[in-house]
Amino acid sequence: MARRKKVYEGKAKILYEGPEPGTLVQYFKDDATAFNAEKRDVIDGKGVLNNRLSEFFMTGLTSVGVPTHFIKRINMREQLIRAVEIIPLEVVVRNVAAGSICSRLGIEEGTPMPRPIVEFYFKNDELGDPLVSEEHIIAFGWAAQQDLDDMVSLALRVNDFLSGLMLGVGIKLVDFKIEIGRIWDNEFMRLIIADEISPDSCRLWDIETNRKLDKDVFRRDLGDLADAYTEVARRLGVMPQGPSGVSKPTLIN
Ligand code: UDP
Repeated sequence: MARRKKVYEGKAKILYEGPEPGTLVQYFKDDATAFNAEKRDVIDGKGVLNNRLSEFFMTGLTSVGVPTHFIKRINMREQLIRAVEIIPLEVVVRNVAAGSICSRLGIEEGTPMPRPIVEFYFKNDELGDPLVSEEHIIAFGWAAQQDLDDMVSLALRVNDFLSGLMLGVGIKLVDFKIEIGRIWDNEFMRLIIADEISPDSCRLWDIETNRKLDKDVFRRDLGDLADAYTEVARRLGVMPQGPSGVSKPTLIN
């Protein structure tokens, strides 16, 4: 069988041509990178966990009427998605101060936001994904005002959905990043959620202990990243047996 054509390879995922026009296959790698790929490692099982978690979040969003690129999971590491034209902006929503907002504005980590804050970053590795304003986005033509309004509204709907889901399993959704793409139905353009939603792109803290259950475990060397992601998946009822498919031994009293 001919090898599928690779369309794009990023830090954590590979995109292949899909079986039908307008589709792609998204493959989740085990590679972890941080600080613009200055820190890197391979974390066994991360790709499998993120494939399942992204499927779980995207299908949940679809069920509450938020459009996403997800079509179906194909296997442990791959999912079928709709091909979109990615808007070159990372959309970040923050509920609690952490990460770059703390260093940029001198806010103490853990400070709750008075309301969810939506930020845009220009996707450009060479520039280190700089924070940009709506003025920049419109002036440089990355998106139109109507797109921006739709993006903010989509991001806040994702925030409401994910925060509630996480709260239900004792996890605080501190912040997250999404990417949004354009699709055309005949001459009508629509925006849909693309890329992935996983602990790679969210900050997730245990409500009781503030234990970090996200990529900060890797960024700050706080322990085993796959264990943290497995804990998120386990609480949500996704892959209760862990990424290897084998249950860990349990103590019988
Ligand atoms: N984020 C991401 N990809 C990026 C930058 C940020 O997924 O290239 C996520 C990050 O995991 C966090 C949120 O977006 O959940 C906000 O990140 P922040 O701006 O604080 O930057 P960081 O501290 O990650 O550099």
